[in-house]
Amino acid sequence: MSRVLVLGLDGATFDIIKPLAREGKLPNLSRLLDEGCCQELGSTVPAMSFPAWSSFLTGKNPGKHGIYDFMARRPNSYESQFINATWRKADSFARILSVEGRRVALLSVPLTYPPDPLNGVVISGFDAPGIGGVADASAIHPPEVRATLRQVVGEYPISANLEALKGEALLAGLHDTMSRKARAALHLYRTEPWDCFVLVLGETDAVAHHFWRDHDPGSPLRDPAHRVPALAGAITSIYQSADAILGEFMACLGKDTTLLVMSDHGHGGNGTKGISLNRWLQRQGLLQYRATGESGWGGAGWHRGLARKALTSCKSLGLKVTPVPIKKLLIRNTRIASRMESWLRFSHLDWRRTQVYSEEGSYPCLWLNVRGREPMGVVDPAASARLCDDVVRRLGEWSDPDSGRKVVKRVYRREEIYQGPYTSQAPDLTIEWSLDDGYSYVNRRSTGPGEPIFALDGTQRTGLKSGYHRNEGILMACGSGVLPRAQVRRPSLIDLAPTILYLAGAPVPVDMDGRVLEEMIDRDYRASHPVRRSGAPSGPGSPASEVTYTEEEAELIESRLRALGYIE
Ligand SMILES: [Zn+2]
Repeated sequence: MSRVLVLGLDGATFDIIKPLAREGKLPNLSRLLDEGCCQELGSTVPAMSFPAWSSFLTGKNPGKHGIYDFMARRPNSYESQFINATWRKADSFARILSVEGRRVALLSVPLTYPPDPLNGVVISGFDAPGIGGVADASAIHPPEVRATLRQVVGEYPISANLEALKGEALLAGLHDTMSRKARAALHLYRTEPWDCFVLVLGETDAVAHHFWRDHDPGSPLRDPAHRVPALAGAITSIYQSADAILGEFMACLGKDTTLLVMSDHGHGGNGTKGISLNRWLQRQGLLQYRATGESGWGGAGWHRGLARKALTSCKSLGLKVTPVPIKKLLIRNTRIASRMESWLRFSHLDWRRTQVYSEEGSYPCLWLNVRGREPMGVVDPAASARLCDDVVRRLGEWSDPDSGRKVVKRVYRREEIYQGPYTSQAPDLTIEWSLDDGYSYVNRRSTGPGEPIFALDGTQRTGLKSGYHRNEGILMACGSGVLPRAQVRRPSLIDLAPTILYLAGAPVPVDMDGRVLEEMIDRDYRASHPVRRSGAPSGPGSPASEVTYTEEEAELIESRLRALGYIE
């Protein structure tokens, strides 16, 4: 039986690691590449941090844990809300170990707020509200750990306060946050022999979102006129810091410990073409925009513009300066702003003539406007499967007018990729775009008809995050029980929870979708440690146990997600 140390590098990719390792810039990751078991790691669909880390923690597909994105749809509405760990409907491997009396630490794992009161230490990820980007007592279990860490390393950061930062200052912020997290984590790691210790560094993801164009000479978003030479090495320097942190952990690794270095998804570059699913749907006759000037719920452009302005200023200042009764009303009824937001988001759509629509959010997916499910649904539920088939076929025929190449790599009907009680919460169709010459199409929100694929103009390009997620993440393993340079058959994120439980000597629940990565394990170890199975745990939570953010907290989360590069 091993102890397990997991270093999670959010969004890390071998496309960055391998070339830097060859240049001798990542000595510790190089050692793992040479001596460990290294393989690309498949992410979830979609390859977004919340579903991905949830599948990492639970060993289950999103249909069983219910997490698909940063936001979740409210039933029977077009509204969405930010979610937190109380939405996850499946036990984590950390909880399973904790119940067995093992000591566990979960540090900065996304979607762990509020912290699960485990036998050990939990410091929530960037879903913790925390004013000023600092983990307050509500984000730390047990709360007294906060005082200890404060004395040793100062306040534990949730994420860098990037909202107001750009360029070199932003990069410095990422370095500062990462080093403070690492100092705190190393302090905790050295204080006792943990059975399972997990630290996630989100900075590898944020740096790639912000600085891909500076790192990649081929990036079509490179702008020679505005190049900052100091930023050419931004991604390299964050990976080097992560490598140094890995080195410090490796230096105090016991012989009985297995080390896993992994990412929740990979990363690549954004291209210069925007893509709007609703415009494509409009061209297909499946969606109608409201005519400009049309009155009624939704209204004219200026009407929307004013409302958007009012909501934005209310968001940025309003909660500080609005008259107390309104402020109280907003905080008490968090749905008001959410309703207004969803009205603004969809006010340009004519629901009576819309069969299929997209939220045009952080990843491409489609919803059917189903009668009885959506408030203004028009699609007969009995006809929805046929409509889905039709849309899948048409998406498959969609080609880029510029290159002539197929735009869609794959479309997934939700039942194809999700199984479990929460499958019905997933979008009807989730799309994976093809790459355009190796770069991603940029998902853009539309407010009216136009070209579905269009060139992003200068200002759109300047403000754009230049990196975007890829499905292929990393898995590197060494230490106790690991067969060096083993070949593992298509490992996936959902395989890590069962593998960690196995290594830690705990039984693997039968309802986990992932498998123990036995090819990665040393033959002698396998012979003396057969895989044990256990019944399915009851699992936490029900919709009734979901804890909603206050409006102020939701605003904090939203601006942080924007700054980290998750939403535009
Ligand atoms: Zn991520």
